[in-house]
Order: sequence, then C-alpha cells, then structure tokens
Amino acid sequence: MRYSIFSLAREALRGHAGWRPAWRDAAPQPRYDAVIVGGGGHGLATAFYLAREHGLRRIAVLEKSWIGSGNAGRNTTIIRSNYLLAGNEAFYEWSMKLWEGLEQALDFNVMVSQRGVLNLFHSDAQRDGYARRGNAMRLHGVDAELLDVAAVRARHPCLDFANARFPIRGGLLQRRGGTARHDAVVWGYARGADGRGVDIVQNCEVTGIDIADGRVRGVRTTRGDIAAAKVALACAGNSSRVASLAGLRLPIESHVLQAFVSEGVKKLIDGVITFGAGHFYISQSDKGGLVFGGDIDGYNSYAQRGSLPVVEDVMQSGMAILPMLGRLRVLRQWGGIMDMSMDGSPIIDTTPIAGLYLNAGWCYGGFKATPASGWCFAHLIARDAPHPAAAAYRLDRFARGALLDERGAGAQPNLH
Ligand SMILES: Cc1cc2nc3c(=O)[nH]c(=O)nc-3n(C[C@H](O)[C@H](O)[C@H](O)COP(=O)(O)OP(=O)(O)OC[C@H]3O[C@@H](n4cnc5c(N)ncnc54)[C@H](O)[C@@H]3O)c2cc1C
Repeated sequence: MRYSIFSLAREALRGHAGWRPAWRDAAPQPRYDAVIVGGGGHGLATAFYLAREHGLRRIAVLEKSWIGSGNAGRNTTIIRSNYLLAGNEAFYEWSMKLWEGLEQALDFNVMVSQRGVLNLFHSDAQRDGYARRGNAMRLHGVDAELLDVAAVRARHPCLDFANARFPIRGGLLQRRGGTARHDAVVWGYARGADGRGVDIVQNCEVTGIDIADGRVRGVRTTRGDIAAAKVALACAGNSSRVASLAGLRLPIESHVLQAFVSEGVKKLIDGVITFGAGHFYISQSDKGGLVFGGDIDGYNSYAQRGSLPVVEDVMQSGMAILPMLGRLRVLRQWGGIMDMSMDGSPIIDTTPIAGLYLNAGWCYGGFKATPASGWCFAHLIARDAPHPAAAAYRLDRFARGALLDERGAGAQPNLH
C-alpha cells in the first residue's frame, strides 16, 4: 500500500478503515538464503537493501523481542557526518546522502530534519582541532563552517556566554546534520523490507549458530532451527554474546548509555548542540521536550538502565552551557547497551567462519550510520567483498594494529 496525499484523503473519507498493517508478523520458515540476526535499524536496513539492491528473495530478520526494542528505539536521534578520518568520513557522508533521500526511497515519513549540528569549542586549542576537522570535511566534499562566538550567539542566544565556567569561543557547524525520528526509521525499513518479501520474525531469539567444516549452516532459535547459507549478525549491544555462539571473541565491550527527555517547552533550541568541555549533546523534539545525553556509564553491563552518578554528570554538563536546564523537570530517562569497539569505529566484515558476517562496534554513533550500514552490509553479504565506503571497517584491523582511532583515545571505550 503506497502512502500519498491521495491515500490519506481516501482513508480520511472512509473513517481510516482501509489502512493495512505496515508489515506482516511472519512465522519462521525452515530455510532461508540469508538470515539477519537483530531487528534494529541496521538489521532491517540490511534486509531492505539486500532485497532491493541485490535481488535476494528468501531473507529473514530474526528479532528476540520486538523490532526497534534495542538501541534503534532508544537513541537521541542525532545524524551527522562530521568525521575527521578518511576511513570514516566517506562512510558517514554516504549515510547522510542516503538520509537525504530516505523518505522517498521508503515511501515513509522518517522525519529527517536537517536543523544543523553545532560542536561548541571553549579554547584556542579546541578551535584549532575543529578547524582541522572542518577542513578535512570540506576536502571530502562535506559541508562545515567554523563559527565565531558572535555567530554562535546569534544562532543560539539561550546558551550561557556571560558567566560560564567554560566560556564559549565558537563552534563547528554542519548545517546538513540534524535529527530523524528513530522509531519511524525502524518502521520504514521494516515496511520496505516486508514489501520486498522479507520475513520479519519477532520474539525469536537466536540461541545457537550451526557450523560444520568451517562454514555456517544455520541458526537455532527459540522458535525452531533455521537453515541458511548466510547468517549476518546485527545485534549492536549484544554482539559479543551472539558472536560467542559461533566461538568468536570480539574486540568489543558492552556499556550502558543513558538518554533523558525534559518536559515540553516552547521552541528553545533550533538544532543539535554539543558541549566541548565535557560530553553532552542536546536537541529539542518536535513536541518540545529537550532530548539530551552524555557519557556511557563506564562499566560493562547488559542492563538497559543506568546509574545515578552519570545522571548527575550529564546534568552538570548541561547546566554548564544551559543553566536554565536546572528549572526543567526530566520526564523520562532510559538506557541502551552500546557495542563499544576498541578504537571507537565500527566493524562491517566477514568472519573466519564462511558465510557468517558481522556488523558491530557502533559505539555512540550507530543511528546516523543506519542507512549506510545497511547498504554496505548488504553489499558484503551479497558479494562477499566489502563495499568501498566501508573498506576500513575490517575485523582484523585490531590484530594488524591499523586502528581507526577517530578520537585518538586508544583502546579505552570510556573515552570514545
Ligand atoms: C541512549 C542512546 C543514545 C544514542 N544516541 C545516538 C545518536 O544520537 N546518534 C547516533 O548516531 N547513535 C546514537 N546511539 C547509538 C545507536 O542507537 C546504535 O549504535 C544503533 O542503534 C545500533 O544499531 P541497531 O539500530 O541495529 O541496534 P539495536 O536496535 O540495538 O538492534 C539490535 C537488535 O538485536 C536484537 N538481538 C540481540 N541479541 C539477539 C539474539 N540472540 N537473537 C535475536 N535478536 C537479538 C536486539 O533485541 C536488538 O533489537 C545511541 C544509543 C543509545 C543507547
């Protein structure tokens, strides 16, 4: 069923009785050509592009809970492509380009809003760092503007310029960055994949991976065994656990990241703002709530809830640039499990087991990567060769010492 102004008008006239479910609640079949484990944004996007770009027909996405119940439905919805290193920049810019056409590609309103992402800087050294990053972005054909303090003030008068502990000196702006509605991204990809024959199987946990003669044969699940010549893992925070079913040990730690939403207020923040003297990012939802977050909790956990010291840390960082935050009530708070890789960059690669593919290590930034991750992972699964935009995301780079260390923080997930 295509969504359009005409279908909307038709349904409005007949009491909205004709809308059909956006995807089927499929039962698992005994055999598929490709099985994708994980019904988050990445798994569903992979299925969509496998079917649309590579013509694969018998595909299943297996999700242990409901689709979007993981990080896809828990993130702070920021999209951007303001990366420094060549291995990252091309990939995230490709993702941004896919975001820019995603609503047309999916025939679904995923509410992409290019309201700008501004990284504040607070010292001369930080300004130089951001100038370098902005120059690198422009060299890759990506938009970037270095704003002085007057330009930041004109854009965001609500920030504390007069009396701040870390005075704002300016910012690096990517105007094409912004936000997208995370649930809608999941639903849009699910609908697009289902429309191309993909089975989306919910409440189906993968509990084992069958391997014989160094080749994957299928998966064992809570809803029966499924044979498949290709099994692709897109399990985000659970990557280590699921990969261990195949005997793989990943260079990934699982950590909690929290997010917060305040009560709704009139329009205050037009765009996304990040604090430069601590880890804090904030935007305003279309309903008026301020959406914000900060650091991971810093200890390994699979619990989807966070601890109070980080709540305090996030609030302190927020108040350092926006003292008015202290007058707002926080309405909601939650946590998600982040797959923190040892260099802060992701992995999209084959594994030592033939037919087993890995998509993991997204750290703080996997939501904005969703379209390109799905695109490149589908390419890898279909052709057994990495897509050029994701060529740097090899699993063996940790063994080779060829890290893609965007933050320059080394193997310390708490610093990425
Ligand atoms: C609080 C928070 C804020 C964030 N903010 C941003 C942001 O602003 N911008 C940004 O770019 N990124 C952000 N991220 C990161 C981003 O959300 C993730 O990197 C991205 O969503 C991960 O990919 P995914 O959507 O496929 O993951 P998920 O939605 O987590 O999908 C993985 C799925 O695998 C399923 N699964 C796990 N094990 C099994 C199994 N054994 N069998 C079957 N299914 C299984 C899970 O249930 C889950 O649904 C944030 C994350 C969090 C937690």
